[in-house]
Amino acid sequence: MGKLTGFKEYPREAEPYRDAEQRLKDFQEIYSAHQWDHLQIQGARCMDCGVPFCQSGDGCPIDNLIPEWNDLVYRGRWREALDRLHKTNNFPEFTGRVCPAPCEGACVLGITDPAVTIKNIEHAIIDYGFDQGWVQAQAPLKRTGKKVAIAGSGPAGLAAAAQLNKAGHSVTVYEREDRIGGLLMYGIPNMKLDKRLVDRRVELLRAEGIEFVTGADVGKNIDVAELMRDNDAVLFASGATQARDLDIPGRNLDGVHFAMDFLTENTRSLLNSDLADGKFLSAEGKRVIVIGGGDTGTDCIGTSLRHGCTSMVNFELLPRPPAERAADNPWPTWPRIFRVDYGHQETRTKFGKDPRQYRILTKEFVDDGNGKLAGIRTVEVDWVRDEESGQWRMSELADSEHVWPADIALLALGFVGPEHYISAAAGVELDPRSNYLAQYDHYATSVTGIFAAGDCRRGQSLVVWAINEGRGAAREIDRFLMGGSELP
Ligand SMILES: Cc1cc2nc3c(=O)[nH]c(=O)nc-3n(C[C@H](O)[C@H](O)[C@H](O)COP(=O)(O)OP(=O)(O)OC[C@H]3O[C@@H](n4cnc5c(N)ncnc54)[C@H](O)[C@@H]3O)c2cc1C
Ligand code: SF4
Repeated sequence: MGKLTGFKEYPREAEPYRDAEQRLKDFQEIYSAHQWDHLQIQGARCMDCGVPFCQSGDGCPIDNLIPEWNDLVYRGRWREALDRLHKTNNFPEFTGRVCPAPCEGACVLGITDPAVTIKNIEHAIIDYGFDQGWVQAQAPLKRTGKKVAIAGSGPAGLAAAAQLNKAGHSVTVYEREDRIGGLLMYGIPNMKLDKRLVDRRVELLRAEGIEFVTGADVGKNIDVAELMRDNDAVLFASGATQARDLDIPGRNLDGVHFAMDFLTENTRSLLNSDLADGKFLSAEGKRVIVIGGGDTGTDCIGTSLRHGCTSMVNFELLPRPPAERAADNPWPTWPRIFRVDYGHQETRTKFGKDPRQYRILTKEFVDDGNGKLAGIRTVEVDWVRDEESGQWRMSELADSEHVWPADIALLALGFVGPEHYISAAAGVELDPRSNYLAQYDHYATSVTGIFAAGDCRRGQSLVVWAINEGRGAAREIDRFLMGGSELP
């Protein structure tokens, strides 16, 4: 274990982000440089619990061997820590940066004290490994002669490709975008995950023998029947890409945009020309309102601030979460508490206050008389739990109407599910939520030889769950092709 008395001796000290005022001037990552000695001390806080709740169940979805690598980091044995980390996680450089860390919510130390800084330690182990040149391509020694096609190059598709390739199958990943990575590339902004890190991992996978085809839209310019004929198995890992809309008066006004269009075009322009080509929606000099919270909402806030917006408001329909866990949200479940993410902190730095307004229902986008957005009309709502059903019910508060001036409204309301042109072309059945129907841990769809994993199967989720599903689907495909599998 870490140091026997480490959890008593050392307080939790998470690695700070870069100073908000400084980081607002660029799109570079928000993280500060690692302090290796400091991380060793943080690793010493791990108690090596008999039942490490951080590692599975409510904790890490990919069963990362957390107590083992905490101990190895404490002892300065970084190389072994890296090997342990790669056993369960194909892409720790992504999760170490963007995972919300359910492991920390389930850490046993968290019952009485602040949890171990698990995510920081994961982030540091993989960065150290790359710095030392320890992360190298490892092509399989033997090929099976079996071919697998994967539609979609997000974390689910990439994890599946990595695992299937390891088992010796020949894998081709088809991606309709111009760059590989799914939402790791076009979705999560550069300040949260540097796109050079996505490219670096893709290059390693390529060197291991995986083929990547961009501009390949399966079901449109790539025929699904042909793909099935030319391959021994096909995996759909195409994400939950249909954004939820807000069908209220004024939706078509100039200035109302989907968050994903805003974020995708910003990253594309940043990568293509450092924003010099102007092929993105700029929030410079604009009053911005982001409708909806979560990671997407925060990323819209951070991006708009970097453009130079003149005001920032963020509407949330739900009430402000409590500061501490509520009685119905006990350890080790994910703590539904009030958090200050990077975009909220940056808004406080720039405008002196948190952007979030709670219990706000958007009723209308107000026209300036020329088809442009001038403001947003809202009402306040109340949430009351129905005694009988236990369901929360929303009601509008009388006389609570307000018009908020705005030039740009960004809709960050989540996703309703995957697009259906590939599933329709393949004859794959859908579940009641319109996702591709396939049982968790089996991943086989209603069509023999076609599997589904990630957000297109489970609905909008997290990078770490996409990796979990990609790895699981690879194991099931390997079993389908070979009659058995040694993949985890
Ligand atoms: C703005 C934003 C921020 C987020 N931030 C976080 C975060 O901080 N932490 C976190 O854990 N999660 C975050 N998420 C969620 C996370 O990114 C997703 O859960 C995860 O990427 C899902 O992985 P996936 O591989 O299933 O799908 P995706 O990452 O969505 O990848 C699917 C890929 O398939 C491609 N595709 C679709 N159809 C076809 C087709 N017919 N042919 C070929 N290619 C196709 C798409 O272009 C896309 O590249 C965020 C999501 C968004 C939108
Ligand atoms: S992947 Fe996420 S849940 Fe797992 S150890 Fe890393 S931060 Fe924790």
